[in-house]
Amino acid sequence: MMRIPLSRPSLGEEEKEAVLAVLESGFLSLGEQHATFEREFAEYLGVPYAVSCNSGTSALHMAMLILGIGPGDEVITTPFSFIASSNCILMVGATPVFVDIDPHTYNLDVSQIEARITPRTKAILPVHVFGYPANMNAILDLARRYDLRVVEDACEALGSTYDGKKVGTIGDLAAFGFYPNKQMTTGEGGMLVTRSAEWAELARSLRNQGRGKEGVWLVHERLGFNYRLDEMSAAVGLAQLRKLDRLLAKRAQVARWYDDRLRELPDVVLPPRPAGERMSWFVYVVRFANQQQRDRVMEGLLANGIGCRPYFSPIHLQPFYRQRFGYRPGDFPVTERVARTALALPFFADLREDEVEYVVERIKRYL
Ligand SMILES: *Cc1c(COP(=O)(O)O)cnc(C)c1O
Repeated sequence: MMRIPLSRPSLGEEEKEAVLAVLESGFLSLGEQHATFEREFAEYLGVPYAVSCNSGTSALHMAMLILGIGPGDEVITTPFSFIASSNCILMVGATPVFVDIDPHTYNLDVSQIEARITPRTKAILPVHVFGYPANMNAILDLARRYDLRVVEDACEALGSTYDGKKVGTIGDLAAFGFYPNKQMTTGEGGMLVTRSAEWAELARSLRNQGRGKEGVWLVHERLGFNYRLDEMSAAVGLAQLRKLDRLLAKRAQVARWYDDRLRELPDVVLPPRPAGERMSWFVYVVRFANQQQRDRVMEGLLANGIGCRPYFSPIHLQPFYRQRFGYRPGDFPVTERVARTALALPFFADLREDEVEYVVERIKRYL
């Protein structure tokens, strides 16, 4: 039986050598690696400032703090995402206000946002779900009209473009994450990106226990955190970043292999592709005709050693959100319908064509 994981990082000699060099240098935190990683990451995106940190969640949390969002404030976001894009709002004591998604792109349905704006709304937090760019023009237009900030959760979309611009460079602040299943990894890690020198400086302080600009070790100017990215992780990130475009091209190739084989199956809905944009593929998620069919295929694949998983489980139906906010099934019907029928298939840069073939052949068997 062929065993195929859901995801696997693409690591080579470059990463090994980079980590060993850090260990030999003896500088394990706040050395050259994270500074170089930040500079090259900012160059890759074409933004002036990138501040590294220890997770995408930390980057989102710092974005909320930088914007001064707190108790009594509301932030509009999507329930069809990884939990962190909503939890960061709770971390600062504010309230996430969900808007249902577009069934074709799985991103925020922008036509429903305006109705949820109140005098307490401070920001909109779109997620570029699965790498598909959110409708930023409509979001920026609302933000201008209602004087709101925009924080992009770009953790799943490094390298995707919107209107020719890389996502993460369009809103006020953007968060990226480098968990091992992402397009590039540092193990654990994240990056906060902005055009504001002042916000970048604030982020550097927040991630470093609230230390001031001079970084005097035992002077703390504000409540801060230990959100620093260590040098070994930064070295891995730098090696990954330098081959990112190759990794993205390989992921796009894997997506085409799946598309070409799954297109002929009438019950399978392929992942959406944005017209005229570059899509950075995070996961390959298909939908089935109904939940029974999805579950049958999922169990069949798992029994055959093939990793797969429903993606996502709606945030508003997580036990903690139900308890706290009283959400119930039916509150966000499009999100729930997509979640019931979606399945993420094995997807990573080094997945081979014969492995894709095998996965698709098993899907056909269980349809
Ligand atoms: C991966 C991810 C994050 C960040 O996750 P970390 O594990 O904290 O790096 C945030 N939002 C979304 C939508 C993600 O997919």
